Amino acid sequence: MLQPYACDPQQSRGRRFAQSAAPTRDEFQRDRDRIVHSTAFRRLVYKTQVFLNHEGDLFRTRLTHSLEVAQLGRSIARELGLNEDLVEAIALAHDLGHTPFGHAGQDALNDCLRASHPPHAGFEHNLQSLRVVDSLEERYPAYDGLNLSFETREGILKHCSRRHARQLLLREPDGVGLRFVNGTQPSLEAQLCNLADEIAYNAHDIDDGVRSGLLTLDQLDGVGLYASCRDEALAEFAHLGGRRLLFDSLRRMLARQVHDLIDATRAALDATAPESLQAVRALPPLVRFSEEMRAQGGQLKAFLHQNLYRHPQVVETTDRARLVVADLYAVYSGDAATLPTSVACQAKPHRAIADYIAGMTDRFALHEHQRLTGQTLFP
Ligand code: MG
Repeated sequence: MLQPYACDPQQSRGRRFAQSAAPTRDEFQRDRDRIVHSTAFRRLVYKTQVFLNHEGDLFRTRLTHSLEVAQLGRSIARELGLNEDLVEAIALAHDLGHTPFGHAGQDALNDCLRASHPPHAGFEHNLQSLRVVDSLEERYPAYDGLNLSFETREGILKHCSRRHARQLLLREPDGVGLRFVNGTQPSLEAQLCNLADEIAYNAHDIDDGVRSGLLTLDQLDGVGLYASCRDEALAEFAHLGGRRLLFDSLRRMLARQVHDLIDATRAALDATAPESLQAVRALPPLVRFSEEMRAQGGQLKAFLHQNLYRHPQVVETTDRARLVVADLYAVYSGDAATLPTSVACQAKPHRAIADYIAGMTDRFALHEHQRLTGQTLFP
């Protein structure tokens, strides 16, 4: 049952290009289906965040990460009476704008654009996700992009600088950029996806970190949330060890965060009693963890930063990945003949090159790099 503060597909603020209703699906189901059938969605399978695609078959990819976010988001949405289909659509689309090689690729592309002549506004993956669904997908006869509903697009644009927001407002004065200028909040469904994303990557990065051998189980003793979940698992199953202990601890960790989020959000909803989505927008963020869980989550993130994302082996890989992106950008912008014609003919060459590189999967970027430079940075 949808609560009065949930997004109601019948009250959607609509699509940029008006369309008649689908016979069997509501607006958000339709958005979800459009996302699943998009080209950018299929590419997520060969894009990674921490570990590169060729490093192993069992690490998370952006696709499996997005599915985990959708799963967590839907269960929480159902419990809170929020719109599950909208949560699913946002979760499945939230990472569509990521470059190959995760944040290293994004940073490199951002540096390239800012250093170009004339300098460009830079590259930001949230904004790029919106760009993918608004402009870059080529699937429909009458318009570019997927023509998604306002509510899904709002959830996809999770962060945005004021400068970028103002640019968005030029094209769409009351659009998804507005809240970054007037300081209002997005729907509860969008707020939820944001935190479901955090829950998902904190847990799966521990899993992948241990699997890769870069993190050890002993190191995790210092992470309060993990350690107390592991102790709980051992109290119930004294002889548990190895992989099953890791999985059971992570399972408990996920459950604790999900339950904490549900309880803290319910309390915030009870305290503020918003009667509509409009009321939600004017209030502070209501989807939240308890203070204690927020502190524990912060400690976990700091641990992952220190020990996994800045692990020498990860840094060494991401440095090379950054070079791949920078080299590709340099070659393409130096000689348009190296680009596919559909990219070379675009009116804004630097942005077109950035879109082209951002759309690449890890492995396609590596193939292109090898083809154009003759170098093999990842043998
Ligand atoms: Mg994510």
